[in-house]
Amino acid sequence: MNLPVAQLILQDRKIAYAITDRNLNVVEVSGAVNILWNSRQTSLGRSLLDLVPELVGSEAVLAAILAGELPRFELAWVNRETAEGHTIYLTLVDLPYRDQTGRITGLIHLVEDVTEMGTIDQRLAQQRNELRLLRDQLARQNLELTAANAELQRLDEMKSTFVSVAAHELRTPLAPISGYMEMLLDEDFGPLTDDQRERLEIVERNVRRLLTITNSLLDVTRIETGRVELLLQPADLPALVEAVAAEFGPQLEPKAQRLTLRASPGLPPALCDETRAMQIIGNLLSNASKYTPQGGLISITVAPAEEEGFLQVSVTDNGVGIPAEDQPKLFNRFFRAKSAVLTRASGAGLGLYITRALVELHDGRIWFESEPGKGSTFYVTFPVADRPVAFSSSDLSVNPISCNRQ
Ligand code: ADP
Repeated sequence: MNLPVAQLILQDRKIAYAITDRNLNVVEVSGAVNILWNSRQTSLGRSLLDLVPELVGSEAVLAAILAGELPRFELAWVNRETAEGHTIYLTLVDLPYRDQTGRITGLIHLVEDVTEMGTIDQRLAQQRNELRLLRDQLARQNLELTAANAELQRLDEMKSTFVSVAAHELRTPLAPISGYMEMLLDEDFGPLTDDQRERLEIVERNVRRLLTITNSLLDVTRIETGRVELLLQPADLPALVEAVAAEFGPQLEPKAQRLTLRASPGLPPALCDETRAMQIIGNLLSNASKYTPQGGLISITVAPAEEEGFLQVSVTDNGVGIPAEDQPKLFNRFFRAKSAVLTRASGAGLGLYITRALVELHDGRIWFESEPGKGSTFYVTFPVADRPVAFSSSDLSVNPISCNRQ
């Protein structure tokens, strides 16, 4: 390599060197000399220790290099102020300098400008520190969140226990009240005037409402504490739907609503808990009736679901429908859509929450389609029972089964 090329490389890499004699006096300098020392004055003939104050105190090490006892000495991240006021970072290396015979005649003092790397390193260290700070902050927040969560869970459990105890206590006196109401209405204690009957029927309706609410509250606490147990058995779904329709007849009568039941022929049995399946379908039918005006149409269809291995029950009405903005919240606890509030139908907003939980416990799905002012259809699916059962659903699956209740 010729000298100008070597100079170019040294300049480009920001490397400079100085050679000293055995007394550490500088005898030659080359490369990017501006990074060698602070002073611009000539350095030839001057002591390396004067020119590089960082070496003061390391004289013994330098002597060991001169004696051939140490191969090198390095100082890293030495910072200097440039004449322009910038900070630069240097790596200083001192090596033995030998003549052609191999004798150590002095030192070669190498200086490399590593400012770029230093800046990156400094930035990295800073970012590492910031990350460490963030991590500590996150860990602290995590701890706080865990504590807050535990507290919330404790409060939630307390609330569930309270609701459960309160609902039980409320329900207990309702049983005798309801029994005596029935006996009074059956005139077991003597004949009733029309006026008395009318008033007693109002009381009876309200007792039933209270019972529904307390039962719903008990269901919610059972669901939330995982205490709902299903007795899964093969069941004839169209027959269950018919039984629910018969049970809800009295609710539809005063509103003169027409109910149509349809079932596909030859449906296999569903695997469900009969009581809970009736509760699910009953809730959907009750809602269809509550949120459909006088003289409305309601239909229930049982058919194979699109999803293989499932049966689907759909309950359609031509009632008030559900506003689009309320639809995502429909299955939330205590949620009631604006349209429902306008109908003045009573309710606590727990039915669909409970229904969804019960459907999902059956491994089924629940969803709905609704158009405000036109009506709604609620769909639920139940798995098909894979073993055959004794009953025949064919005699129930007249297509369509229609019962008009006016
Ligand atoms: P509740 O009927 O006691 O208010 P639900 O949980 O059964 O509570 O239903 C939640 C809300 O969903 C109702 O308040 C009503 O706004 C809406 N909803 C449910 N079914 C229907 C339906 N068939 N038509 C219109 N709105 C409905």
